[in-house]
Amino acid sequence: MVVLRSLLLRDRARSRKRRDNDSPLVGQRGSDIDMKPSFFPVSVLSSRARGEVGEVSGDSRVIATRAIPRGWIVAVFGGVLLDGHALRAATPGVHLGRVVLQVDEDAYLFSTMDSPADWINHSCDPTCGLRGQVSLVALRTIAPGEELTFDYATADGSPYDEFVCRCGAPCCRGNIRGDDWRRPELWARYDGHFSPYLEKRIGRLSRRNGSMARLRGGASSRRSPRA
Ligand SMILES: [Zn+2]
Repeated sequence: MVVLRSLLLRDRARSRKRRDNDSPLVGQRGSDIDMKPSFFPVSVLSSRARGEVGEVSGDSRVIATRAIPRGWIVAVFGGVLLDGHALRAATPGVHLGRVVLQVDEDAYLFSTMDSPADWINHSCDPTCGLRGQVSLVALRTIAPGEELTFDYATADGSPYDEFVCRCGAPCCRGNIRGDDWRRPELWARYDGHFSPYLEKRIGRLSRRNGSMARLRGGASSRRSPRA
């Protein structure tokens, strides 16, 4: 996905009362996301975080306003579901990085109604990670004032949003690409936090790599007697 979305800079901050017991997504690990709507035309953000826009830079981001425990659902992304062809037709000239989340093979959530949840930036050393296709959870305890981020490689499996990263993390990859999900060092780091369609891709690639490694190992052992 991207430096997630923001089309119409409309502040949709609304108070959301705690609903711990009446949502299938709430209550096991905690969240205050209001799940009452049966679909999500608009991305929603935890009341423990808020979006802000830099006065000088104009850059948008999301920061924690209260401590957020590990596993807390911090955002649920919404939008209109489109395939790649429909997405390109519907968004000529739009920088999709900030308005689109890839959720499956050739399936994209296009945010048509801007929300602070759409301002969650990419980081190569993020504080949050995907759980499933559209939910974002805290990967660790997040302190007030810390930025909420996630690694877009865990959602994106196509090159619609490639960019130069300036997240500043020691492990920063520099160039963020649509095939970053192929990087084995990310598989362990984000185990359980890749979008499900990418988990399937990684499983296939991992098995193929394992088979190739076994073939190479076999070839090596067969050669050793002649060494
Ligand atoms: Zn980076």
